Order: sequence, then structure tokens, then C-alpha cells
Amino acid sequence: MRMFPHAAAVLAVAAALLAQPNAPPSPAGQDSRWTIALAGDIMLGRGVKRQIEQHDRGYPFAQTCSLTVRADLAIANLESPLTTAPYRTPSPWKFTGDTLDAARSLALAGFDYVSLANNHMADCGRDGFHHTMRWLDSAGVAHAGRTGCDTARFDSLRAADSLGARAYRDSLSCLPAYRTVKGIKVGFLSFCEPYLLAIARDYGGELVARADSATVARSVMAARDSCDLLVCSFHWGEEYRDHPTNIQRKLGRLAIDLGARIVHGHHPHVLQGVEFYRGGLIAYSLGNYVFDQRHERPRQSALLAIKMDGTALDSVALLPLEIVANRPQPAGKKGWRAITARMRKQCQRLGTAVEPAGSLLMVKPQAGKKKEPVK
Ligand SMILES: [Zn+2]
Repeated sequence: MRMFPHAAAVLAVAAALLAQPNAPPSPAGQDSRWTIALAGDIMLGRGVKRQIEQHDRGYPFAQTCSLTVRADLAIANLESPLTTAPYRTPSPWKFTGDTLDAARSLALAGFDYVSLANNHMADCGRDGFHHTMRWLDSAGVAHAGRTGCDTARFDSLRAADSLGARAYRDSLSCLPAYRTVKGIKVGFLSFCEPYLLAIARDYGGELVARADSATVARSVMAARDSCDLLVCSFHWGEEYRDHPTNIQRKLGRLAIDLGARIVHGHHPHVLQGVEFYRGGLIAYSLGNYVFDQRHERPRQSALLAIKMDGTALDSVALLPLEIVANRPQPAGKKGWRAITARMRKQCQRLGTAVEPAGSLLMVKPQAGKKKEPVK
């Protein structure tokens, strides 16, 4: 597909940013800086799967993989189970992706970690969830979002008493995943808001880590001392809502209060603002990344490029993307302007400034700006 000249410029600048060609070495001769790229929802089923069948398995990432491959750590939410297991969900939205090929395409596109705690991961029951983890393991893509549920115990409790099963489910934590990047051990946790899991309560929802304050607190406190930097991924909020809900704001802050540094949000299918909070960063929703939705706002996408200095945030840039034919590409001029205007408005409410720097948007705390309060 032909790219606009403007889009090609965005790609070039973004690639340079993620590769950090200008980073001067530290006095000790070692550069402590490295980069993280955060992306939103990746759905490899339905219309995306048809495109993959017509083209090739690299289709979804062909226009942007030069960016994600360059990042030291690229992270996204995988919204589609990778399985051939039959659907258990009564929902009309059927999203399963291919199996090993799809997992490999994520790895080839440079994705190091995907979150699995979302409202579609249990669509094909426990089998679908387990298959997905197996294919990701085979492809070398780390993942989190699964609880430590002993399903035999859960089933016997449920057969005896639904309250006992619920109490057991509510006592579960998210099992962490770890990766070491430039000598820094990065821990990952992933959670899904419980109301999104109600549909899956009879076919695998107990495997998905729940984004409630008790589960988040337990999981963060258990993982934080085993790593140098903790990233928490949240599938939360309401679809197509412009601003984060109060629940998103509270959970994001809770994760950072307890030791996380970066909060990676998704599910609303649209971009929401970014907040700097106590040395950490909360990206409330990165919208869709690979998806087959047709309307304008769900096709506005972005990569958030975070430059780290050791375990501290150094700088943050947003790379405006737009989804064309179900995959992201650097935004053309019109799309770039629309995303810039949207992010400015959304971020302002969170005390965050968005400043164009060439074709990128630099995202930084806005000095002296009052944030919208968390109720
Ligand atoms: Zn979702």
C-alpha cells in the first residue's frame, strides 16, 4: 500500500526515536537508556484474518513493524484467542486468530509481551486460553493475565457451593511474567475489569486476572520485589468513551502507588489521555492497533514510545497512526491533525501537555496545571 509522504516522515522520525541514535554514552561508557513501545488492541480474527489469508501472516504489522522491532520492549493487548477450540461464548463477536502463525507474526513484528487479561481471551473456554499461551510460548512472546486458578478445585467448589467458588476466584492473583532488557528485569501483570468477564463466568473467566483493587494490590505487591520495573496492563473502561472512568483512574493510580512504573490501558477502542503520576505513567487507552472496525475514531491509533533511563522515565512521545485496511500505518496529514487535537484535549484534563515535535507528539507533565480530580 502506498504511504503518504507525511506518513513516511513520521515513520522515519519515530524509527530514529526508538533506535536512539543520539543517546550519548554515560561517563562509565554505558548508556542506561532504552525504549518501550506500547500499543493497544490486536485482534487477529475476523476481517484481519481474511486479510492475512489474502496476503501473508506479516500483513497486520507490515507498515509499523520497523518501529516495534526497534523498541527494546514492545507491548500490546492480544484481544483474540489463538486456537481452533470451539467457541463457548454466546457473544456475536467472534475473534479467534490463527494459531502458531499468528503468534509468530507477533514475534516477528517485535512484540515481546502481550496482555491476555481481556474480555475475549476466554471466548473458547479454558482450552482456547491454554492454546493461546502455548502458541505464544512456542513463538517466544511473553504474556500475563492468567490467574493461578486450580481449575479442579474451582470446579469442585462450584459443584458444592457457588459462593465458595466465587470466594476462591476472588482470592486469586495474576501470575507475573518477566523479561530482562539491558540488565533491567521487567515484570508484567495484566488485569481485566470484572464486569467484562461476567459473560465468561461459566467457561473460563476464572482464569483471567480481575482488575479489582484487591486483586491488583495483591498481585503488584507479590511481583514488585522480584523485578526492577513493573508494567501493569489493564483492560478497562467503557467502549468508545472519550475520557477514562473513575475506576480506571483509581486502579491506575493504585498500581503506581504500590510499585508499578507504567500502566498500559486498553479496551475502549479509542484513544484516551496519558497521565504522569508519582514518577510513573498511565496510558488510559491506546485504542485499536490491529482491528477491523470501520468508523473514524476506532481507526485512530498510536504507539506510545517511552524512553527510559534505567528504571526512570526519560521522555515520552506519541506516534500518531491510523488503521487502513485493518492494520496501522503512520497517520496522513488529516489523521495526524485529528489525533493531535484529540490527544491534546484528552491529556489536558489529566495535567499533561502534548507538543508537536516534527511529526511526533511529545507528551509531558504540564507545569502548574490542575488535574481533573479522582472522585
Ligand atoms: Zn475488549
